[in-house]
Amino acid sequence: MRLRNIPGADEVVTNSPYCINQPAKLKGKYKSELFMNDNPLYIEIGMGKGQFITTLAKQNPNINYIGIERYTSVLLRAIQKVEDEEIPNLRFICFDAADILDIFSCREVDRIYLNFSDPWPKDRHAKRRLTSSTFLNRYNSILALDGHIEFKTDNKDLFDFSVEEINNHPLWKLDAVTYDLHNDATMNEGNVMTEYEEKFSSQGNPIFKLIASR
Ligand code: SAH
Repeated sequence: MRLRNIPGADEVVTNSPYCINQPAKLKGKYKSELFMNDNPLYIEIGMGKGQFITTLAKQNPNINYIGIERYTSVLLRAIQKVEDEEIPNLRFICFDAADILDIFSCREVDRIYLNFSDPWPKDRHAKRRLTSSTFLNRYNSILALDGHIEFKTDNKDLFDFSVEEINNHPLWKLDAVTYDLHNDATMNEGNVMTEYEEKFSSQGNPIFKLIASR
């Protein structure tokens, strides 16, 4: 997402009670020292303006949610959505997921959501895609053994790439795949739409979804 710089966004993010400013310090301790419970921890990487994770957090008070977004100018929009509410099981981190091993310890995360991740269309940027084998290796480290990844996009090239990366990976396997989520009764059950999903499906694009585990 290319966004103009929004003056004051850094300050809002730093001061928001929803944002974790020094996440590396909480590595291995999110449940015990931040959420103060032993509930599962689900994360969304590249949360954008946060509609998806915020809705899930309200629906499921017994699950802890952390949304990760690289840009303060984007995260600002998510903060504005929730600043008048108290959602104790929801926190945000402004961080580049390339360094995710610095902020979560081994098996600390119970589920990973990737929604409408940046496509990085050039071959030489393939390793930056959040579903590349480079990232699958990182997820293997932070995700509980019975955890899984859920990925949605309307980008066919990125989806095909992701299916291939998972199929070619020695550890990961596909549990479910659909090329038209909104017309797949089973996989669409309980689906929470993201901002991008609403936008692209209203333009007539089918939404693709996969679930992967080890
Ligand atoms: N999930 C949202 C936003 C999709 S756009 C939705 O579906 O509506 C993708 C978002 O991921 C952008 O906001 C971008 O800044 C963020 N992003 C991309 N790469 C990232 C990375 N390496 N670490 C953290 N956030 C990232």
